[in-house]
Order: sequence, then C-alpha cells, then structure tokens
Amino acid sequence: MSVLVAALLVLLLGDLGSTFFYHVPQHLWFTLHMRTHHDRRRSFWDQAVISLDPWILLDGFLGALPYIVVAILASRISWPGALIGLALGQLHVWWRHTTPIGWVTPKWLRAISRVFQIVLPEDHDGHHRNPNVEFGDIFRFYDAPARAMLAWLAPTSRANRRALSRRAKRSTRRVPARGTT
Ligand SMILES: [Zn+2]
Ligand SMILES: [Zn+2]
Repeated sequence: MSVLVAALLVLLLGDLGSTFFYHVPQHLWFTLHMRTHHDRRRSFWDQAVISLDPWILLDGFLGALPYIVVAILASRISWPGALIGLALGQLHVWWRHTTPIGWVTPKWLRAISRVFQIVLPEDHDGHHRNPNVEFGDIFRFYDAPARAMLAWLAPTSRANRRALSRRAKRSTRRVPARGTT
C-alpha cells in the first residue's frame, strides 16, 4: 500500500510542481523550453526522447526536478514506491511523444485513461501543435488551472512586453514625422 501511495505522490505532486513552477513560467517568461521543446524544425520524438543536445537535456532535467524532489520526500514513505513513480514518469515522457512515430491509442486504453485523466500521446501532441493548450504532463486536470494561470499572468509575459515595446518604438517613430507636416 505504501508503495502505491509513494508512487502516486511522485506522479501527482511532481506533475503539479513541474506544471506550475516550471512549464507555465517557461511559457510566460523564458526561452529555454520554447527553443528546445517547441522547436518546430525538429520532430518532438527527437527532441524529447533521443536528442543529446545539452539545452534539450537541461530543459528535460529542470522539468523533471520537481518529480525528483517529491521522490526524495516520498522515499520516506516507501523508497521502492518513489523509484517506481520516477520510472513511470520517465516512461510517460517517452510514451507521450510517440505520435510522430505513428502511435495511435487503442480505444480501450483511451477509455481507461479518460477515467483517470491521464494525458495521452494524442493530447500532448495538441500541446506541440498549439503551445497554449494541453498543459499537465501526466494528468489532464492540471490543464485548466495552468491555462487560467497563463491568462492571469499574460500581461507580464515576454510576448506581451515585446509587443508593447514594438508598439512604443513605432509610436516614437511616428511623432517626429507628424511634427514636420
Ligand atoms: Zn512534449
Ligand atoms: Zn510547453
């Protein structure tokens, strides 16, 4: 029983930490995850699973850090459980990036995954197509709060600041032009 609890804690709290303390902040304010995980020039099977590019590995490591922290704490409940949680988390990383190599989830597995709100490769594929949707690495119930957090903090985002400074530059350029006419 304690094995199961420890494994579940790693997956549930690890995904919670990774989504709200790494993934969403990266989408809002940083470039590492966007340049590596959302690089459209490469297949994301390649990016997430087989690449040895140090930046891609760094993004993967930082995303995994919350799971590792929770696993260290959960090892007090059961260390085999904590290790199983980490292993399942890693298997899920590989699995959720298999759509580029042709994975199609069978109906029965889709039905089970929907009950437990588990992210399917097809769901995560949606995040690679549109980086503003389908948050939560392992569990789908983190998607709605993650998108709410994104929307709430959008005014502080890099994209917004860049748009504002572009607009400011354009308007300062226009002012002297108007003065001469
Ligand atoms: Zn991905
Ligand atoms: Zn992302």
